[in-house]
Amino acid sequence: MPEKLKSEPSAAPDPEKMLNEISAAAGICINERAILPVSALVFSKDLLEYCKTNACGNYNKSWTCPPACGDIEEHKKKILSCKKMLVFTTKHNLDDSFDYDGMTRGRKLHTLLTTRIKDGFGGALVYGAGCCPVCSSCAFPEPCAFPDRRIGSIEAAGIDVTQLAGAAGIAYNNGTNTVTYFTIAFL
Ligand code: SF4
Repeated sequence: MPEKLKSEPSAAPDPEKMLNEISAAAGICINERAILPVSALVFSKDLLEYCKTNACGNYNKSWTCPPACGDIEEHKKKILSCKKMLVFTTKHNLDDSFDYDGMTRGRKLHTLLTTRIKDGFGGALVYGAGCCPVCSSCAFPEPCAFPDRRIGSIEAAGIDVTQLAGAAGIAYNNGTNTVTYFTIAFL
């Protein structure tokens, strides 16, 4: 009898290639990206103090913002169970440093790309800029409408983005009259 052919294990998808394909399909440019170990992350409880000031208006209004999002230790446990992370940024030009509409437009594009990455990466653990953007208005305090699509907030997880940018070798700030947003997809 002929020996039965064993099927080759399929190669793991290349996350950077997927990122390129998803961003091209969405028509949204990635500014910079890097893959690095999760051990490069620095967590700080102090960052959550800023959330309590409710400067963004989302405190106690989203499942992904304090206090409902859980504490740093819960996020750390989930995050550190992964090995690597893909970090990427988008950069958006502003008319001036008070161009709130430009910032909002940039954030919308960035969060659109982040939701597509979450879906394209098969529901991987993803944290983005600010509260979860999946629903136009978060169902909080009613149960989350799409728990499998939920996107965490980098800030609310206590992740120090300045340190992350340094470790990844990517710019935290891209200069005058620009705004830069970050997303992290855990692999
Ligand atoms: S999926 Fe919708 S309901 Fe759930 S956290 Fe995100 S915005 Fe809120």
